Amino acid sequence: MISRSSELFARAETRIPGGVNSPVRAFRNVDDAPFFVARADGSKIWDVDGKEYIDYVGSWGPAILGHAPKVVVDAVHEAATRGLSFGIPNPLEVEMAELICDWVPSIEKHVDGLLVKAGSGALTHGRADSAGVPRAFADLTISLPFNNIDLVRKAFVENKEKIAAVIVEPVPANAGLYLPIGDFLSILRNECLVNGALLIFDEVITGFRLARGGAQEIYGVRPDLTALGKVIGGGLPVGAFGGRAEIMDQLSPDGPVYQAGTLSGNPLAMAAGLAQLRELERINGWKLLDELGAQFEQLARNAIKDAKAGVTFNSVGSMFCLFFAPGPIVDLANARQSDLKMFAQFFHACLRRGVYFAPSQFETGFISTAHSAEDLERTGSVVREVLASL
Ligand SMILES: *Cc1c(COP(=O)(O)O)cnc(C)c1O
Repeated sequence: MISRSSELFARAETRIPGGVNSPVRAFRNVDDAPFFVARADGSKIWDVDGKEYIDYVGSWGPAILGHAPKVVVDAVHEAATRGLSFGIPNPLEVEMAELICDWVPSIEKHVDGLLVKAGSGALTHGRADSAGVPRAFADLTISLPFNNIDLVRKAFVENKEKIAAVIVEPVPANAGLYLPIGDFLSILRNECLVNGALLIFDEVITGFRLARGGAQEIYGVRPDLTALGKVIGGGLPVGAFGGRAEIMDQLSPDGPVYQAGTLSGNPLAMAAGLAQLRELERINGWKLLDELGAQFEQLARNAIKDAKAGVTFNSVGSMFCLFFAPGPIVDLANARQSDLKMFAQFFHACLRRGVYFAPSQFETGFISTAHSAEDLERTGSVVREVLASL
């Protein structure tokens, strides 16, 4: 019998490149075709064939309160009755800008818009770089391993006064998940300062997830600019960046750097984001997320230990990754040692048992405030059973 998911995917493939509107959704790293989602609520999603899963993807991060939280859905409904898009300033944009500047002290001014590229999608598909990016652009970028300050220093010496900025995810979560070691981030901050380069944190994943003020709050490092997305949109499409006023004043219409967007500051996205962020604060969501993360960490580590599986478990707060490689995993080269065949088997076995982890070794798992202790227990048992069977 053909499932509704496979029927939809067959139709999608004839009209959408690869059948998906974002490459990581294609399930290619796990040798399969994706399932299609009919609906999602709290910690669960249901596919179009009626199967239920505990979801640890959470729309790749935004669903920090779980799916379709009532406060966010209500806020979107309410905003929608007042208009979907104006193309002229609306009060919610100001509220969002004020909230972000208040919660993230390194951000003095903020804008919405913009879009970045590559990341885990590119890794999964075995391409470090996208076709269509002119060589001349690629030549302007130096790519260095995380957690290696010596190579950063070397790059600054070899390119004296030529490096404009260093951009980094303070907790890399786009190639699996690994953590900064020791004072890596504060030393990086200092190297940028003495070499006249800006430090830019990509906190699209970690922003408002690891803490109210993001990873920069936890690690006590103040970047010059910060990129945000995911959680600030409450599930609606948003990207934002902000930082020192002196830099942000370079943007049009005040400055020479052109920046624009037809739907920027969209009232529905702002309403969704504001509702989500305020609810997180109201319930002290970060404390709850840390507790749930710690519970899952314990369950997963025990399962790994008992199965004597060659798996490395990295986690911080509500984010986690099981690497099918011996640890420690502190950079991309380590992550790439993972046994991808084994990961694919693990993924499918969990999926069959109703647990949906990201369909790629190079992704991060997300726990939401809607995940119950029972969800985590059940997931722990599934991980235990699957690891033991591999
Ligand atoms: C998801 C993500 C992006 C891109 O955000 P979009 O909203 O998809 O444009 C950028 N950086 C990181 C670290 C991400 O995880």
